[in-house]
Parts: sequence; structure tokens; C-alpha cells
Amino acid sequence: MPEQERKTVLILGGTAEARELAAELVGSGVDVLTSLAGRVREPARPSGRLRIGGFGGVDGLSAFLTEQQIAAVVDATHPFAAKIGSNASAAATRTGTPLLRLERPGWVDHPLARTWTWVPDAAGAIAAAATARHPFLTTGRRSAEAFLPWADRAAVIRLVDPPGFPLPAAWTLIIARGPYRYEDELQLMIEFRVDALITKDSGGTHTVAKLEAAAELGVPVVIIERPARPAGSATTGVAGAVDWCRAQLHRRSARRS
Ligand code: NAP
Repeated sequence: MPEQERKTVLILGGTAEARELAAELVGSGVDVLTSLAGRVREPARPSGRLRIGGFGGVDGLSAFLTEQQIAAVVDATHPFAAKIGSNASAAATRTGTPLLRLERPGWVDHPLARTWTWVPDAAGAIAAAATARHPFLTTGRRSAEAFLPWADRAAVIRLVDPPGFPLPAAWTLIIARGPYRYEDELQLMIEFRVDALITKDSGGTHTVAKLEAAAELGVPVVIIERPARPAGSATTGVAGAVDWCRAQLHRRSARRS
């Protein structure tokens, strides 16, 4: 395929924002290919084309961008998916492919943010909530193992899919997928006598209710900060990403004529 025919937008997905962007672009006639890592057993299916699985690092992603004649990439992955973000940045630079980061705002500006204990990682959370007997863990499957030092505590852990290892007998596993309602979060924290909420700065509205329920019940919140992302073009809203994609495609077609 000649270079000038590039018109596919690659969305690195796994978030609600990625699906919204795909729907908007497909609705306006853009060829969209969404990529998912394949971590979730039954992922919500985005509009447009879909591929699933890792690319094989920066080399694999660079080759993919060239072979698939990708016109532009939007990294709409989760704020805590830092590896794919740095791979995308390196591959985009290497292949000269325009890249935009679409990232929902964090909770740093939430009115309650100053009442929470901010920590850099799971080890920091364990130290910050050292006295908790009924911690509520909502930091996701990948970090679950880091909390095994709390095997003797009556922890409640909420995940989208079961973890890949046996959980301590004292823990309660809840399999669920947001969005979560304030009343339900309140009920859950009362039922399990939660005395510390451990979360990460995912941002957005789907999972914010637990923070407000914790405040209502006087439950301390320990929140893991977002990892650093490579510098580059970025936007916090789907509308901005749609405009950016259209501008990239327009620029390519203008160069052709
Ligand atoms: P990560 O640590 O940044 O990435 C690890 C590896 O997974 C990458 O090097 C890449 O493999 C592959 N990968 C990640 N995202 C991919 C994508 N969209 N398409 C193809 N390959 C991808 O990522 P993670 O934290 O494991 O998260 C995996 C996916 O789950 C992300 O796409 C993210 O949007 C979604 N997610 C993550 C979280 C979270 O808390 N981390 C929460 C909700 C959703 P190769 O090097 O082989 O290309």
C-alpha cells in the first residue's frame, strides 16, 4: 500500500474514553483500529476494528505502525498503564507517526483530595495504612500481590477478573465492574466494617463514589499517585482527541493533493 493512502487511526485502548473516541470517529467515517492488551476476559467491544494482544515491545509496535500504515495513534490507555505509554512514545518517534495521549484528569483537584494520604506505590500504601484491620483494596489485579503482607487481615479486594493466584483465606473477593453507585459503596463499606480505603488515582466518575462514601463514614483513604508519562501532545477530553485525529487525517490528505 503506498504511503499516501494511510488513513487508519490506531487507538491504544482499555478505557471508557478509548471506546467513546472510537465510536465518535467511526461515526464520522474514520477507519479506526483499537488495540487491547487482552487482560480482561470479556472486554467491552469498541466500535470499528479490534485487535487483541501485545505488540512485542517498541520494536513490535514500530513494525506494526509501519506495516499497518497507521496515520496517527491515540494512546488512550489507563493512567496506570505506563509501559505501553512509553512504548507508544518511542515507536511513534521512531516511525514518525503522530501520537496523542488521551488521559482523563486525575483526582488531585477533587474537593476531598487534601484529606487523603498520597503515596507512590503499593508499598507506600501498606506503610500508610499500617493499622487497618479491614482494608478495602481497589488498586486492581496487577498490584494485588503487593498486598499479600496483609494476608492476616480481613481485607476486601474488588477486581474485574479473579486474580491469577490464591488469595489469603482471610480476604473477601468481590468481582465487579464499575461504574459504582454511592449508596452501594456506602453499604459495602458498612457491611465489611472497612477501616481504610486503598485506591489509585484512576480519575473520572465511574469509581469516584467510593471516595465520597469513605468521607461520609470517616474511613481514611490512601491513594496511589499516577506514574509519570513521557512528554508529548496530550488532551484530557474525547472531543479534543477527535479534533486532533481529524486534523492529522486532513493534513495527510492535503499533502496528497
Ligand atoms: P502496561 O503495563 O502499560 O503494558 C504492559 C504490556 O501490555 C505492554 O508492554 C504491551 O505489551 C501490552 N499492552 C498494554 N496495553 C496494550 C494495548 N492497549 N494494546 C496492546 N498491547 C498492550 O499495561 P497494564 O497496566 O498491564 O494494562 C493493560 C491494559 O489494561 C492497558 O491497555 C490499559 O488501558 C488497561 N487497563 C489498565 C489498568 C491499570 O490499572 N493498569 C486499569 C484499567 C485498564 P507489548 O510490549 O508486548 O506490546
